[in-house]
Amino acid sequence: MDTLAKLQILSGAARYDASCASSGSKREVPSCGTGNTSQSGICHSWSDDGRCISLLKILLSNDCRYDCAYCVNRSTNSVERASFTAREVVDLTLDFYRRNYIEGLFLSSAVMQSPDVTMERMVRVVETLRTEEHFGGYIHLKIIPGCSSELVRKAGLYADRISVNIELPSQVSLQRLAPQKHKDSILEPMALIGREINSSLVERQADRRAPRFAPAGQSTQMIIGASPENDFQILRLSQGLYKKMNLKRVYYSAYVPVSADNRLPVLAAPPLLREHRLYQADWLLRFYGFSAEEILSDDLPNLDETFDPKTAWALRHPEFFPVEINRADYATLLRVPGIGVTSAKRIIAARRFSAITPEGMKKIGVVIKRAKYFITSSGRSFEKPDQTPALIRQQLLLGEGYGAPPPRQLVFPGLFA
Ligand code: SF4
Repeated sequence: MDTLAKLQILSGAARYDASCASSGSKREVPSCGTGNTSQSGICHSWSDDGRCISLLKILLSNDCRYDCAYCVNRSTNSVERASFTAREVVDLTLDFYRRNYIEGLFLSSAVMQSPDVTMERMVRVVETLRTEEHFGGYIHLKIIPGCSSELVRKAGLYADRISVNIELPSQVSLQRLAPQKHKDSILEPMALIGREINSSLVERQADRRAPRFAPAGQSTQMIIGASPENDFQILRLSQGLYKKMNLKRVYYSAYVPVSADNRLPVLAAPPLLREHRLYQADWLLRFYGFSAEEILSDDLPNLDETFDPKTAWALRHPEFFPVEINRADYATLLRVPGIGVTSAKRIIAARRFSAITPEGMKKIGVVIKRAKYFITSSGRSFEKPDQTPALIRQQLLLGEGYGAPPPRQLVFPGLFA
């Protein structure tokens, strides 16, 4: 099989991994035109500073020994198989880079003979790119659970970001749907990566020439809706991963059936709204000072479908409001629906000079139509005071277009290794 045929199979297979968000777009190039879209596995991801970067997103192999029920590449599925050599991936990356198609590489893989054999070949790709070809572009490398610690350490020295997919939210679900995987083989490399990232930061503070380890951090991916865990269990897991494993990001992937198996649920549609709400709640964990236990509980285990998690929290906590916009501290401002991280910072900065008026709030970026039920400005309410949460709920529904159809995602869930 030639490299192009392999590329078609292995870039197509890689689109199932959402932990590097992909455009997934497909467009015919006009005969007299220039440019092309992601026919050859080019996807777009975002760097920490918000810059959009194009990546060659491929699998090293889709020839898997494992049999995860939800995966298109499971060993018992009948799909065309292909595997790249390390050299082929290196050449493709360099070729695409020189043509200015990409700024980096996203490399994942199915499990070939064993986790070590697969990971060893993946590490060889990035080692060759960095040390022999002096490739300076971005590299995101997946870690194959179960591979040796030595290979994980090597991967972190060459890749910018590394990730181990947690796949499912509990060991029970892993056992049922991915019987060759065990949570320990996933959590152990994650913990190791977290430790290595920390020690690299410490070493580099003492000596700027000390090697960097995964400077863009580590991430993971979880499939939502293939197993019975509720949102509270999922958010608590994410919270633990952020705290204990030094994770940069958890990606949530709505389960899309790509493989028939009677262990899998039959869903009317992929749970895209649920995925969207989990991303919003995750944002609250990472940037808004919320804990999973504030957002949900055993008595309220799933996120509100109608309202975003912060508005749902505000409606359940009338005792917290109204917040006086000209006096509240940063953490309190962040709890107001319609006030984000940027607008909260701007409010703090602007009110050093004068009290903030409703017009000033708009300029600052506050979403007044949402925030107005929860704030006062120099003691004045925007709405009639003492409105009940039920009334605010009704007015929000009328004014905000809440209840609109769920957002559509552009990529399918990632399912690899
Ligand atoms: S999820 Fe990964 S390990 Fe499981 S069958 Fe698919 S490619 Fe193989």
